[in-house]
Amino acid sequence: MLIPMSSLRLERPEGPPPPTDPTEFARIQFSTRYSSHMLVAAFESGRWTESEIRPYGPLQLVPNITALQSGISVFEGLKAHRSPAGQILLFRPWDNARRLNRSAERLAMPRLPESLFLTGLRKLLQIDARWVPPLGTGALYIRPMIFSVDGVVRIKPADQYLFIIVTFPFGAYFSAPVDVLITEQYVRAFPGGTGDVKLAGNYAPTLVADREAKAAGCDTVLWLDGPERRYVEECGVMNVFFVVDDRVITPPLGGTILPGVTRDSVIQLLRDRGIGVEERRLSVDELVTLHREGRLRECFGTGTAATITQVRRIRFRGDDLILPAVEARPVGPSVREQLVAIVTGQAPDRHGWVDEVTLDQARPAAANAR
Ligand SMILES: *Cc1c(COP(=O)(O)O)cnc(C)c1O
Repeated sequence: MLIPMSSLRLERPEGPPPPTDPTEFARIQFSTRYSSHMLVAAFESGRWTESEIRPYGPLQLVPNITALQSGISVFEGLKAHRSPAGQILLFRPWDNARRLNRSAERLAMPRLPESLFLTGLRKLLQIDARWVPPLGTGALYIRPMIFSVDGVVRIKPADQYLFIIVTFPFGAYFSAPVDVLITEQYVRAFPGGTGDVKLAGNYAPTLVADREAKAAGCDTVLWLDGPERRYVEECGVMNVFFVVDDRVITPPLGGTILPGVTRDSVIQLLRDRGIGVEERRLSVDELVTLHREGRLRECFGTGTAATITQVRRIRFRGDDLILPAVEARPVGPSVREQLVAIVTGQAPDRHGWVDEVTLDQARPAAANAR
């Protein structure tokens, strides 16, 4: 049964209630427990329906939906945190709404009104507020998605879609440093392809490369560009940064790099500190030379789930570039600390990134309130 948002009467969800003990939140592993509700809107007869909030649970779909047959499916990832005063804060959610539409456009999907995304998300968080972990015990991960539900085996733009948002809490994320393998065999993205959009189908082909990385004793893959297999592009499902001397280098956007919200935020925070950030191509040869000259001081990945993940070792053609100890790194760890303070409302929000979810349901949530 569906519940229109305008006449919100919530069904009692079947799953377990949210934890009441903060230490229980801190122990929840990523994507192992789900919040009580999900937001659902449908695209039918050329328009998006009003969104509905229903208990989290299975969908009834026929097996030949084009999301499964042709991979017509895009998604987003963002987080909500608690401030010290217990407010629920979203981080740049309008950027995720916009990026979801960029991804949708790439698959010939209809646009989703950004207000449907933002208002629906705030409503969902109001209803499942008790699933947002208290400050210091983790965050709520938010997974919006759009996929086609036409039941036809035919390759063409779909006529019917679902927009769904599910959320889940996860415990304080200690992001352990990782070892990465540069693969020359597999590529993640290529010019004219879909590497710059969050398309579900981008991730399945990375699984074999990841397995290879693990077989080589690494955690994930450092991707090179497709045409030349020379330039570093991304690190697993994160954007990648290198600290060289006193500057920072990150590969430029432009078709094959996912424009990460964390990437953009980190670049801004670095520039705020007066650190030069170069968005430019960096070849493996240059990386090896910089390392040999002792000028490669840090490498780290950025992404919503872990914010910043330090790279400890880069493996390439059987050799290892061992990077300086994480404790001795001047840039990444302190930027991570600053970003975590901003998203949890513990540091000034100078760029208007933080969106407070109003917990009084009678009032509409204020957009970009500061
Ligand atoms: C989502 C994603 C990122 C990080 O984007 P954020 O907006 O910072 O979470 C980086 N690379 C890839 C391939 C991604 O899918």
